[in-house]
Amino acid sequence: MIVEQVWTGNAYRNFNYLIACPETGDALAIDPLDYGKCLDAARENGWNITQILNTHEHGDHTGGNKAMVRATGAKVIAHQNAGGRIPNMDRGVGAGDVVKVGKTVELECLDTPGHTMSHICVLSHTDQPALFSGDTLFNAGAGNCHNGGHPHELYETFESQLEKLPDDTLIYPGHDYLINNLRFTLDREPDNATAAGMIEQYESQDPNDALVTTLAMEREMNTFFRLDSPSVIARLVEQFPEMGDSPSRKDVFLKLRELRNSW
Ligand SMILES: [Zn+2]
Repeated sequence: MIVEQVWTGNAYRNFNYLIACPETGDALAIDPLDYGKCLDAARENGWNITQILNTHEHGDHTGGNKAMVRATGAKVIAHQNAGGRIPNMDRGVGAGDVVKVGKTVELECLDTPGHTMSHICVLSHTDQPALFSGDTLFNAGAGNCHNGGHPHELYETFESQLEKLPDDTLIYPGHDYLINNLRFTLDREPDNATAAGMIEQYESQDPNDALVTTLAMEREMNTFFRLDSPSVIARLVEQFPEMGDSPSRKDVFLKLRELRNSW
């Protein structure tokens, strides 16, 4: 499996992806909003884009579909319940479904509601797994729930699926929000030395050559994976005494999600 992360450079800071089979040159484009850049990248590598996968129905993820289909004839894949909101879907997928790319690449679909209720992440069947996490999981952060999502479901997705993935899973999110998210981590957990060190190291990184984190790194500096951190809890309890002395993981997650909205 070859992964090409395409930085759009737009105001929403979207990342698009091409996933290619090295044997056949077939490629799948994830959320190819900047279809021009995706097509250029495919051409440079000698790849043939045969499929488009939308992680969810928001326009900054589906907006390139039409032009990409016109240019390549690629089939559009998305969550089985997204049909009404993504025009001209060719294949609806659910939890456990596998999307093949060429001969060698298998991507397993995870049903990951929360950011929207028809959001999928895909996990590669490779020695070192890679998670294409759309707007569910960002580097150092979690998706919002403003446009068709629900925080309770987002918590369930984190708790029952993302938390259980192996530490060496590579994380490929739908947007570059790394630095802002790390600042939020520090706001919630001022003694998080990993987050502080990463801001220093990556603040001026070139998004064309962005850091790819692993789940092990996320567990250290993503506040939404740090629900048991004594310093996260202590600060919440001090600010919101109504949470009680030992709030549940779910209550911590929901409060963090709420605070991130107005931060
Ligand atoms: Zn979205």
